Amino acid sequence: MSKPILWIVIPCYNEEQVLPITAPMFLQKITSLTEKGMISDKSRVLFVNDGSRDKTWELICSFAKQDAHFIGISQSRNRGHQNAVLAGLMEARANNCDITISIDCDGQDDINAMDEMVQKYLDGAEVVYGVRSRRDTDTFFKRFTAEGFYHLMNALGADIVFNHADYRLISARVLDSFADYKEVNIFLRGMVPLVGFQSEQVLYERHERLAGESHYPLRKMLALAFDGITSLSNKPIRLITGAGIVVSLISFIGVIWAIVQAAMGSVVAGWASTICIVCFVGGVQLVCLGVIGEYIGKIYMETKARPRYIISERTWAPYERKYHG
Ligand code: UDP
Ligand code: MG
Repeated sequence: MSKPILWIVIPCYNEEQVLPITAPMFLQKITSLTEKGMISDKSRVLFVNDGSRDKTWELICSFAKQDAHFIGISQSRNRGHQNAVLAGLMEARANNCDITISIDCDGQDDINAMDEMVQKYLDGAEVVYGVRSRRDTDTFFKRFTAEGFYHLMNALGADIVFNHADYRLISARVLDSFADYKEVNIFLRGMVPLVGFQSEQVLYERHERLAGESHYPLRKMLALAFDGITSLSNKPIRLITGAGIVVSLISFIGVIWAIVQAAMGSVVAGWASTICIVCFVGGVQLVCLGVIGEYIGKIYMETKARPRYIISERTWAPYERKYHG
């Protein structure tokens, strides 16, 4: 059997500070895996520039000139981490690679775990999830919110791997099937398990960022979590139905109680409690409407079926005109 061609897919957004440090590490990994005879020497390090505003793309182009293992594509604008990874995976697929490993460019995820990932692929696994063994370098708050998120996702019925982000190996077979998942709202770590096939896990330690700053402040993290939940599970809508039934039952009991009181000659007093209950129910209804609205918004975006990524440049080829219709 010929050796598999590996593409390492690396999303980059405003990463001019960290790329000069991590790019040689990725190249070194490709070289050592090739020397060990585990992968083909046609393997590549693919950087996906996600519409950076700094010198990231210029850096990627200069890497590509220095060494043929480095290649890069650029998105026409910033589309977010998930779309950048997807663009890279689909590019790798279009170029007939046998395996892809997606990883962040900031050195937080241990590059050395790739040896074990590739070995597990050679032993028959089609998906290998990188799982953080410890999160010591994350703040208590990030750890707490992240773990709460994984538990919530699983409770809502989405099958996601605990403490796994987007560091994973995928075989060409899985990638081919994954290409049929056409949704616009993508949450890769929730979608990949849906594809199935034999999967394995590799534990690694998560480090500090080697340079630069995180692009995921609390606001974006919450948005990603909310997106993940609503694009993978319908349970929130079911919960609303459940909450409606519970509130109706309680109010029904209240009515009976008030009638019984009246029949016994005493009047149920208190307009304040009435106002409180009306406001409470009003608030609950607005939240429920918001959740339903979130799903309708998702349906709206899905029906438009807009492109999920637009590649404007490649380091190895000029822009090709697409003809429609
Ligand atoms: N990233 C991206 N597009 C964005 C934001 C981030 O491609 O709009 C990339 C970023 O360059 C990095 C990865 O996604 O390689 C993870 O981002 P970051 O390290 O900022 O997130 P954190 O590790 O703090 O969650
Ligand atoms: Mg990071």
